[in-house]
This record gives sequence, C-alpha cells and structure tokens, in this order.
Amino acid sequence: MRDFSNDHSALAINSATVKSLNLQQLVDGCARAGITAIAPWRDLVQAVGIPQAGKMIRDAGLKVTSLVRAGLFTASDAGGRRAAIDDNRRALDEAVGIGAANLLLIAGGLPPGSKDIVGARHQVRDGLATLLPYARQANMPLAMEPLHPMTAADRGCVTTLGNANDLCDELGEGLGVAIDVYHVWWDPTLPREIARAGKRILGYHVCDWLVPTTDLLLDRGMMGDGIIDLKSIRKMVEDAGYNAPVDVEIFSAGNWWKRDPDEVLRICAERFRNVV
Ligand code: ZN
Repeated sequence: MRDFSNDHSALAINSATVKSLNLQQLVDGCARAGITAIAPWRDLVQAVGIPQAGKMIRDAGLKVTSLVRAGLFTASDAGGRRAAIDDNRRALDEAVGIGAANLLLIAGGLPPGSKDIVGARHQVRDGLATLLPYARQANMPLAMEPLHPMTAADRGCVTTLGNANDLCDELGEGLGVAIDVYHVWWDPTLPREIARAGKRILGYHVCDWLVPTTDLLLDRGMMGDGIIDLKSIRKMVEDAGYNAPVDVEIFSAGNWWKRDPDEVLRICAERFRNVV
C-alpha cells in the first residue's frame, strides 16, 4: 500500500466537500492546504467558463481526477434520453477542456412513475453504448460510479460494483468504474469485484458512514468518524492496480458544510495521512 502518513500528494478534494467555495476559492484553498488534485463539479467550472476554468487549474498546477458528474441516462421517453446523451457529450467536452483524467458518471434512477428497474438498467446500458464512441474519440474515459441501493429509485439504478463491472465487460474500452466507499462498503462481494475491476478502476472516493445516519444523501462523515474499514478497502483497490489520487467526497449539510472551508481542508489532509 502507498504510504500517506507524511505525504498527501495522493489526496484530491471533491469540490462538494467544501461546497461554499467557487472554483477560484477552491484552487486557492487547496494551495494553502498543500493539496494538489481536485474533482470539481460541473456547475463550478461552468460558472467561470471552460477555457478560464482550465487555465485556472493549469496555472495552479492542480491535477483533475474526475469532472463530476454526468450520466443520468434514464428518462420517460426517447426525447429525454436524447437530451441526456447531448448533455453527456457537453460534459465530455468540459472534461477535455479542464484536463480531467476521466468523466464521472452516475446511472440515473427510475423515470417518473416507473416501476421497471430492469428497463432502467437497460436504458443506462444503451445510453453508455451511444456515448462511448464520442468518449473514445475524445480520449476521455468514462468512470461509472455504482451507488448505494438506497439511491436506486432517484439517482443510481446501477447499485453494485458487480453491476458496473458487467457493463464494462459488455461495452468494452473507454468505460471503467469509480469506487466510492460510501456506496460499496457493505457489499459481501466487494473483494471479488474489486479484483475483477482491476485496471478498470478509474477513481477511488473516501468519506465515512456515520451511525446513526440522519440523511440518505447529506450526512456523510469525515474519514475516521464512522464504521467503514477504509484501510482494508484501499488495500484491495491498490492491490488491483489503482495508484491515482484518492478523492475525498463529503456531503454534510449538518456539519462539514457549516465549517470554515480552510479548517475542513486541513482536517481532510490530516485524516488522509492517518486513517485513509
Ligand atoms: Zn463518489
């Protein structure tokens, strides 16, 4: 395993962890904290325009792990699914423009009124198949992030790493996976599926699962404050060949979003050295 104990050059900050910052503030805050990689959300880079965002990031010498996020392929009708593909193509252009290593995708949930999760998963597969030629041409890998089953209805009908690996097997080059401990820690097949993913692991995201959890989306914990065996999962991911930066991704409306962003970044770096 990599030694993070006196080095956090492998630490990347997902911009949602310090949600109150705009892109320039995020870039400056990372510089103050000695953090060298980011995973910005699209609204942040769109707010300043892609060329300017790319320049800001390059001038600061920051790496971009992923542009977050696109996907959301499911819709009630063909027009809605076409609109999703168009938006994904724009996201790919944005990812290229800011020099991201990949574009992060989530599947999308059930279309409104639908009870057909099998159909929703087919829509995701078909959406990926439609998008992949454009992604390959742009030389921009797609990183599908399986989401915890609690989000299957409204955000992510690809719910396990096994589901995501099946999609990679079926669709081939240009598609990989992003593994977020919050979504997969509970899965008894995790060791097997991480090994199976192998070199297709394009991203690794950390935070922690609090007990009790008070909100299904916005109550993620800081690494070390919950029950996820972070070191064991990182070992599996690194044994599978992953050696890119690790994204800290904490949606925390009740706690971390209320704190001073400089303090949050400092604590992220400290926990990264000690508990990730
Ligand atoms: Zn994630």
